[in-house]
Amino acid sequence: MAKIAVVGAGPSGSSTGYHLAKNGHHVTLIDKESFPRDKACGDGITAKAVRALTKMGIDYEYLKKLASEYYLWNSSIISYYSQEYHQEYSDWSICIPRYIFDNIIYEKAIEAGCIHHQQSVNNISQFRSNFNHEFDYIVDARGIFAGECNVIGIREYWTLPIELFPHYYHSNIQVYLEQELGSQELGSNGYLWIFPVGLNDKLLKINVGLGLSLKDYERRGTNLIRFFDEFVVRHHVAGKFLDNVVTRTRKKVYPLATTKWNNKIYENNIFKVGDAANLTDPVTGEGIHNAIASGFYLAQAINMSEDIESVKINYQKFYQKYFQKKLRTRLLQEKMLSLPVLRNFLLYKIGKLSK
Ligand SMILES: Cc1cc2nc3c(=O)[nH]c(=O)nc-3n(C[C@H](O)[C@H](O)[C@H](O)COP(=O)(O)OP(=O)(O)OC[C@H]3O[C@@H](n4cnc5c(N)ncnc54)[C@H](O)[C@@H]3O)c2cc1C
Repeated sequence: MAKIAVVGAGPSGSSTGYHLAKNGHHVTLIDKESFPRDKACGDGITAKAVRALTKMGIDYEYLKKLASEYYLWNSSIISYYSQEYHQEYSDWSICIPRYIFDNIIYEKAIEAGCIHHQQSVNNISQFRSNFNHEFDYIVDARGIFAGECNVIGIREYWTLPIELFPHYYHSNIQVYLEQELGSQELGSNGYLWIFPVGLNDKLLKINVGLGLSLKDYERRGTNLIRFFDEFVVRHHVAGKFLDNVVTRTRKKVYPLATTKWNNKIYENNIFKVGDAANLTDPVTGEGIHNAIASGFYLAQAINMSEDIESVKINYQKFYQKYFQKKLRTRLLQEKMLSLPVLRNFLLYKIGKLSK
């Protein structure tokens, strides 16, 4: 059995660690933080992400039992440049604050036999040179710390009296792609999200955030916190919620590692999963599913291979089969959305799909 260091214990690292430990490997799960730890996110866990978790013995009931805050949703309101689409899904998805969600996955990895070690690994090549004799494989799961940033996100939690949350929005997540948040010149899009994440008798907790392309953000040269505060006040939906807000948390700014045309899933004999490999969808910002799934496929590749070269070949095959084509299609869609003529064609298609 192999000795493996997985650096980063977010969804991708914990998933990798879990599937390796379950197969009898000796896994050291290294993270600079102790768990539970927060992670700025929209907190949207799609149905396919929950399905990927069933391989770790986690399903809806398990999540609902362990999560002190959650919100189930099975439809979305997506507004593309003021054209609103309401989509219903056959499966339920869930929103859970990442402080809670990531800890559930992390605990599963520990239960499976991973040994947690708290340490900051800033230079992973140096780490590999220092510990090459101790580990057969090294996995980089350090999220955006290792991935390439191309979008900047900002998130805040608001609470509202439940009776003031319009019924129209129940069971919905909302995403607004707005002209003002993108740039045709740069071929970039930006969006506002409003996701319900928790509910008690009186109050609804919502996660409100903005994603801006890095290029657009740099061109604006603006202070993101101030921009967010001004934008939500004038937004036609967020502004109305804001009128009724009871509490607001401190805003958290965090970069996203959306996909690139030529993603690298290993480099210098170090394997990458999740955001470290830039596996986040460039249109929706969804990265949790691919983080969990890439951990599963890398573990499969290690389990079925006899040496590091075969792991590379097998992991590359899984990547091409399960991720590459979809991610590249999304990159093309992202470009189309920023160009008015192509955008109208794409929206026509989306409109047809949502009927
Ligand atoms: C603002 C925002 C909103 C998002 N919204 C959504 C959403 O609603 N739904 C969705 O599916 N995805 C969303 N995403 C994407 C999602 O958060 C990521 O795709 C997902 O967290 C990737 O998981 P990961 O395990 O690869 O990385 P992470 O979750 O970032 O985990 C990385 C881990 O590595 C550790 N680490 C980092 N550096 C070091 C170091 N030097 N040494 C040791 N450990 C280190 C960190 O402490 C962390 O625990 C969003 C992202 C952002 C930024």
